[in-house]
Amino acid sequence: MAKTSHVRPYGIKVLVADPLQGTFFEHLKRHGVKYRYDPCISRDELLKEVENYDVLVVRSRTVVDKELIRRARSLKIIARAGTGTDNIDLEEARRRGIKVINAPEAQKRSVAELTLCLIMMLARSVLEGNLALRSGRWKRPLGFELMNKTLGVVGFGRIGKEVAKLTRALGMRVIVYDVVRQEREAKKIGARFAKDLDELLRRADVVSIHVPLDEMTYHMFNRETFEKMKRGVVVVNTSRGQVVDTRALLEAMDRGIVSGVGLDVFEEEPPRGALYRRLIRRRGVVAVPHLGAQTKEAQEKIAEDLAKNLMRLIG
Ligand code: NAD
Repeated sequence: MAKTSHVRPYGIKVLVADPLQGTFFEHLKRHGVKYRYDPCISRDELLKEVENYDVLVVRSRTVVDKELIRRARSLKIIARAGTGTDNIDLEEARRRGIKVINAPEAQKRSVAELTLCLIMMLARSVLEGNLALRSGRWKRPLGFELMNKTLGVVGFGRIGKEVAKLTRALGMRVIVYDVVRQEREAKKIGARFAKDLDELLRRADVVSIHVPLDEMTYHMFNRETFEKMKRGVVVVNTSRGQVVDTRALLEAMDRGIVSGVGLDVFEEEPPRGALYRRLIRRRGVVAVPHLGAQTKEAQEKIAEDLAKNLMRLIG
């Protein structure tokens, strides 16, 4: 069947291969679109089944690689419930005329709030205090105030901007860096655009990472980058695990360059290897299991936005 960028809803078959909120399905039903909801489908079954569908809906669990796309002979649309499309082989999809859509706005507030939460937990050793108290010890670590400290936001996109706004309200100085220079945007929220990444790394007391994962940003935070940071810096990553070289991060902690680490994402998810066990249990590390968009509000908005974007294409 010839692939077109516009398809009719009737007869369209949708496979939802990851968990999604009910709002999404209500939209499909309203438009008479048939779907199969199989949020725990195995890789093997997906490889067998995918050829029967016109639309494949995924979150980050399902890896849509070359092999899967090649088996998906009828596929016209891949819908990613969320922002990052790094689990999808975009080049292969493009080559085969398959459209890739997502819902990039829906979760920015939730991810920004979690980022702020990790920064605050690290500044006041909340986790350490809590763990001590749970084990019956009265231990009161000395923290630091965020007011007048410098936050460096790397990647001044949707989430980076939201984080910058929230931390400005706390009286932090915000310096931002992005490959796209946005001096006026930064000024509007009282932030300053750094001359280059090195300047940001040199000045920031807290570095917050918000770049997408691609060839340029893979291990963007490595031995060399950590070397340029202020001694005692706090680093928070709520973007993608592979943006940070985990081994180099641990080494930077060992060497006293990085004093605190907030992680929502890992190079391996779930993180199982010995390296991660060392990292996650280490004092000064607050690690959470990819909770960024795990709020009621974000999930509902993702479902709503994705359904609307999909219906715009097939309706
Ligand atoms: P976005 O596309 O709006 O912003 C990303 C910004 O990074 C852009 O302004 C872009 O110009 C900039 N950028 C790209 N390459 C860069 C580089 N090499 N150096 C500096 N800047 C660079 O994306 P977003 O919606 O703000 O998402 C940011 C990150 O958060 C992504 O990695 C996304 O996958 C991740 N994310 C995580 C969660 C979570 O649950 N933790 C949820 C949603 C998104």
